[in-house]
Amino acid sequence: MSWFGEPTVKVKSYLEEKDLFTDCQKTDMECDYDEILLSGLKAQILASTKDKIFVVLHTSTSHGPTYYKKYPPKFNQFMPVCKSVELAKCTQKELINAYDNTILYTDYILATLIDELKELDGYSSTMFYVSDHGESLGEKNLYMHGIPMSIAPKEQIEIPFIVWASDDSVVFKENKMLSQYYVFHSVLDFLDIESPVYDKDKSIFK
Ligand SMILES: [Zn+2]
Repeated sequence: MSWFGEPTVKVKSYLEEKDLFTDCQKTDMECDYDEILLSGLKAQILASTKDKIFVVLHTSTSHGPTYYKKYPPKFNQFMPVCKSVELAKCTQKELINAYDNTILYTDYILATLIDELKELDGYSSTMFYVSDHGESLGEKNLYMHGIPMSIAPKEQIEIPFIVWASDDSVVFKENKMLSQYYVFHSVLDFLDIESPVYDKDKSIFK
């Protein structure tokens, strides 16, 4: 597992893979994969004395080209999978299978995270899951992503936006179409943070 080009971040606590690894090895988690991000998370939240906690988990699950290396072998539900970095050498079926396995694994991570958040008694939590981009898997002979927005195919720009809230009193607007621009304003809204740049129209909450 690797992350490239980590941006300079100004946050109180920032953990890299090596920071998480020691903790993770004490668990039955698969520490070579993205679920390592969940190790010690609940304990850290519980240890905080703040009344608002914001956590960012940066997964690498569906990032190509080696999709099949991004999930533990038991998530090989869709077979056969593409194992070449030269994606065009795989059949589209093998490519889609490998990618679908990463989605299955992401699903597992999100479900586990939600279970952990549910165990936090007395906390009102919300989880946002958003992708940074979609991915071409051989449609129109295109692979990966990065084509300029104006001409990019829908496979590269249509992304999942999943939200879960622990509290039944949290009401969502009837959001028909969302974009990444909604994340920032929705987080401010949920955490009740005042800012001159806050735009209520771009919050997903009622
Ligand atoms: Zn990306």
